[in-house]
Amino acid sequence: MAAQNAPLKAPHLGEPYLLTPGPLTTSYEVKQAMLRDWGSWDDDFRGMTRDMRARLLALLGDGKEDFDCVPLQGSGSYCVEAMLGSFVPKDGKVLVLANGAYGLRAAKTMDYLGRAYHLLDKGDYLPPRGDEVAQILANDPDITHVLAIHCETSSGILNPVQEISEATYAAGRKLLIDSMSAFGAVELKVAEIQYEVMVSSANKCIEGVPGFGFVIARKSELEAAKGNCHSLSLDVHAQWANMEKTGQWRFTPPTHVVAAFLEALKAHEAEGGVAARGARYYNNRDVMVTGMRALGFETLLADRWLSPIIVTFFCPADEKFVFERFYELMKDKGFIIYPGKLTVVDSFRVGCIGQMDESVMRLVVQAAADTLAEMGVVSAAPPARALEERAKLAA
Ligand SMILES: *Cc1c(COP(=O)(O)O)cnc(C)c1O
Repeated sequence: MAAQNAPLKAPHLGEPYLLTPGPLTTSYEVKQAMLRDWGSWDDDFRGMTRDMRARLLALLGDGKEDFDCVPLQGSGSYCVEAMLGSFVPKDGKVLVLANGAYGLRAAKTMDYLGRAYHLLDKGDYLPPRGDEVAQILANDPDITHVLAIHCETSSGILNPVQEISEATYAAGRKLLIDSMSAFGAVELKVAEIQYEVMVSSANKCIEGVPGFGFVIARKSELEAAKGNCHSLSLDVHAQWANMEKTGQWRFTPPTHVVAAFLEALKAHEAEGGVAARGARYYNNRDVMVTGMRALGFETLLADRWLSPIIVTFFCPADEKFVFERFYELMKDKGFIIYPGKLTVVDSFRVGCIGQMDESVMRLVVQAAADTLAEMGVVSAAPPARALEERAKLAA
């Protein structure tokens, strides 16, 4: 018993594993890459920026020549705002597809920008479907762009971006994708799915540390974006033009974060690229979900919609289950989990991304089993209400 309760710590540093969608558990090599200072104007750092941009573009596969990569200081939301402000003309209109907090944040961003949008709000987790998109676009000729969230990290759903793309281009509109928590682990090859712009950030599936994001856009869209942006610091065209001309970021770059990210990109390539990274995460998810289900936990989503990024579980109905205590006891065992974001029923989330493999996921399940026993929870089954909610997905 004592051995079972001994804290399980992440490699090298005695830290808990972050079972969260970023910041996440990074490798020792990624952390170590930050132990050096770089001059932002220096040739060495300019070379690092160039290398990073080329490596990110390479992940798009055939057809990448038509695109360019523009890194931008700030967290992921800064890039979403930069994308909306730079690629949607002031007289444009966006169809925002929301099924969680990140879609709603994009709509709120449009409010701040003062630009027109139509919000399709599917609630906590129902996916926006291609036929719905087609119908809205047919009824509203003013809509110029569609914004899709690739993996909606609030519930962990992997949205059907392929059918959304097909509906968007069949109606002659343009697609923008927030692939923040999917890019690097879920393919977004330009030969396979049509889009104009996507954004992601350093601290998600590439497994870097937080501090900047990046915009990957069709070059013709980058050129056309001149003069669109409401903001100096978020102007993607201006950042791109300056980087092309001087090789430098316009304002102070997060040098250490870039050095760490480059290390993370090299590890991503060595692992086998997007396919291998995705395979590890899918396996993490499958091992963890199978183990949690065996304990009686139920997932919010049916298997078809489960992403390899993060999984939402219903909180058990058992009155001895108190999330805050579950969280603390899991943390004592070396695992930081994530609260849920559903509005209707109580839930929590467990991430599958970061420097972890299936052996770690087995330990997570063991820690959950031990924690339930410590709390005196006899059944991890959710309340009937949660299952009724879930039945809506199948309908
Ligand atoms: C993480 C994330 C963001 C950006 O969040 P920040 O906290 O600003 O980094 C945006 N969209 C999605 C889907 C995300 O997962």
